[in-house]
Amino acid sequence: MSISQLARSIVASPTLSLNEEAQKLRQKGEPVIHLGIGEPKNKTPITAILGSTARLKNGDVKYVPTDGIPSLKRAIIRYTEENYGRLVAPENVIVSTGAKQSLFNVLFSILNPQDEVVLLSPYWVSYPEMIKMVYGHPVIVTPSDGSFQPRFDEVEEAVSSYTKAILLNSPNNPSGVMYSEEFIADIVEFCERRDIYLIMDDIYHKLVFDGKQAPSAYNYTSRDVDSSRIIIINGVSKLYGMTGFRIGWAVAHRELVEVMGNVQGQMTSCPPVVSQAAAEGALTGPQNAVESLRMTIENNRNVMISELSTICDLHVNTPDGTFYCLPDFRAYSNDSVQLANMLLRKALVVTVPGREFGMEGHLRLSFSGTIKEITEGVRRIKWALDPTAPNEIYIGDRKLVRDWL
Ligand code: PMP
Repeated sequence: MSISQLARSIVASPTLSLNEEAQKLRQKGEPVIHLGIGEPKNKTPITAILGSTARLKNGDVKYVPTDGIPSLKRAIIRYTEENYGRLVAPENVIVSTGAKQSLFNVLFSILNPQDEVVLLSPYWVSYPEMIKMVYGHPVIVTPSDGSFQPRFDEVEEAVSSYTKAILLNSPNNPSGVMYSEEFIADIVEFCERRDIYLIMDDIYHKLVFDGKQAPSAYNYTSRDVDSSRIIIINGVSKLYGMTGFRIGWAVAHRELVEVMGNVQGQMTSCPPVVSQAAAEGALTGPQNAVESLRMTIENNRNVMISELSTICDLHVNTPDGTFYCLPDFRAYSNDSVQLANMLLRKALVVTVPGREFGMEGHLRLSFSGTIKEITEGVRRIKWALDPTAPNEIYIGDRKLVRDWL
């Protein structure tokens, strides 16, 4: 089969593949615990359901403006004003089919072949692949002190004359770490001075714990959105747990937004209007759903960290936000793919290998599920890693056998 070299070089999304594998095992009746995916268990907010059903009821489901329906754009403008302290115009906002498409669209619209985008390790799995898909080049900065907190001087060193953008995700998938205000301030100042785009993937910015707040990049620039290099990405997937509606957005310089509109118009015409109506319903409805989701996830985080602390020689930093933590399993294995495969086969627990995020020797564990899943998942991981534990355990009448050590 003739396939382009570029398409062939793009790897499957490991988190989506793992999800499919877990589903297949579940369909076979296997008692799988899924600590792989970042998807909360909450129900869609009622105002989102009402918004989309109203559209369906009146049968008005047609093509709509490429960059999003005006009423949703107004809701995003209000969200930006309330949460970022910035008043932006409709021309600065473009709605897409998930934050994933917003990011791809930004990268497609700003990169020439061979342009570089600086990423910080650990990074979200899709960034390097998306950059390669538009013939760009990911440049990865790994903190030399082994922490997940990047240092400004290390980022500055990685910047070359080919650097078009720096892409940050804080709080971070997969480490859960939130970058310091000082770091964000330095990066904003640097990008504005050097005319480098700063793409802020803020998809988890409300999912922050311990009374902390994610700093907004706009706080550190005096430029308005049409002279700033800051591009904000956000969406309803994590904010309201509305992953299946596939609505994300970008806020940026109007010239860039116009180009992104042209690109999107040729690709998907517009994001589905039923989903846009749902996103509008969520953004304009009571916001207690966001806080109650945040509180549930914070409690899950506490349980996950306390359970993990019972595993010997496992190092884990306490996440500031997101649904994820990235424990260091190097006391047990340096090969995270092998370790994740072993945990899936022997303990029926889905985890994501750290290698996919630029952090070999680590596994990403999600705490977006139920408390029962978290405690049972960690219990099985602990059993699988402990050579003094019994070789066999029973989950109902399913026998698990540990024979890898
Ligand atoms: N950015 C990050 C860091 C993510 O973790 C995700 C989802 N896993 C996305 C973007 C994409 O979100 P969406 O569902 O809106 O496409």
